[in-house]
Amino acid sequence: MKDQKLGINTICTHVGEIKDEQFKGAISPLYMSSSYAYEGVDVKRYPRYFNTPNQEALNKKVAMLEKCEAGLIFGSGMAAVSTTLLAFLNKGDHVVVQKTIYGGAYNFIVEEFPKFGIEFSFTQGFSEADFDSEIKDNTKVIYVETPSNPLMLITDLEMISRISKDRGLVSMIDNTFASPINQTPSDFGIDIMLHSATKYMGGHSDICAGAVAASEEHIKKIWNVGKNLGGSLSDYTVWLLERSMKTMAIRVKAQNRNAKKMAKWLESHAMVTKVYYPGLKSHPDYELAKKQMRGFSGMLSFELNSDIDANQFMQSLQLVKQSMSLAGIESTILSPTKTSHALLSADERAHQGIADGLLRFSVGIENKNDLIADFEQAFEKVAKKQLV
Ligand SMILES: *Cc1c(COP(=O)(O)O)cnc(C)c1O
Repeated sequence: MKDQKLGINTICTHVGEIKDEQFKGAISPLYMSSSYAYEGVDVKRYPRYFNTPNQEALNKKVAMLEKCEAGLIFGSGMAAVSTTLLAFLNKGDHVVVQKTIYGGAYNFIVEEFPKFGIEFSFTQGFSEADFDSEIKDNTKVIYVETPSNPLMLITDLEMISRISKDRGLVSMIDNTFASPINQTPSDFGIDIMLHSATKYMGGHSDICAGAVAASEEHIKKIWNVGKNLGGSLSDYTVWLLERSMKTMAIRVKAQNRNAKKMAKWLESHAMVTKVYYPGLKSHPDYELAKKQMRGFSGMLSFELNSDIDANQFMQSLQLVKQSMSLAGIESTILSPTKTSHALLSADERAHQGIADGLLRFSVGIENKNDLIADFEQAFEKVAKKQLV
């Protein structure tokens, strides 16, 4: 069978799997060894070299999911992001970074880059002119994240790829919110795909991991810095992540469907003023999202009427958990103001369009009617409290 022709569920289930020659078991055996022979072998294996049998197996699956030559699994999303940025930026280099990226990536750049003498600029917006105007003679990398957190704004991948190629820059995308199921940035010519595998790849809120996919040449550069920084993932967790990724496509598609229904339902609710979901026609980037995404993900945000206490609303929910992080099969909700964007000033939050009444909803795989019933009863509770 030629791998390139495989369907998405087959890739998730089988690509990279290790054959159990000894016992003929159905799944990849787990090799926990941190010590391997060095004489008479093709590859010198060591966990921090990202090349134990289980690490190599998962590297292959990630590469194929992103339609790339190679992949690497890391100990966290931030290990993948930090290692990859440092692999392509030297002292005196400059990187153009999209406005509103993941808080941890933002902190890494503003807190660590000055120590390395690496320069950076954040764009004012998402348009070609916004990116173009930040490019300097020493720019080496363009870094984007789409859909963005928490407003699910979309960056035009074809445009980013084109301006990067025109100027000889390396383009990087944090593809976490879309997952490889909904978006394949390499189709548009983006060079490097990054993931927090803690999110959709893991999918069960029980694994912290990261992933990168790119060409062989780019992965070699990332590997070289990666072995120095030491951000590899333990084999046991690699093996658990492989198990999780077998169901990624069916999970994510169920989450896409639920999120679209919930977005539509919330949009028509009297106590909700705004819904941000790229799969809604009312979303400013709907057409662009349709062009570059196959599904719109399980992530959405909404703003409550200003006279509703957002905290009371969240605490009234019974099925949907108030919780950090995202993309698990269970639905969770949070206030960006109190979590992911808490370190920003109130002014900066307002500048990014993040209202205090904004809630980010990570839609799980529960039955849609149960999610709606939970929201209904929470809306009723806060409405009654207002009357008292
Ligand atoms: C969570 C997240 C990260 C960081 O990943 P960790 O696994 O927490 O290190 C990076 N980017 C996005 C978009 C995320 O949601």
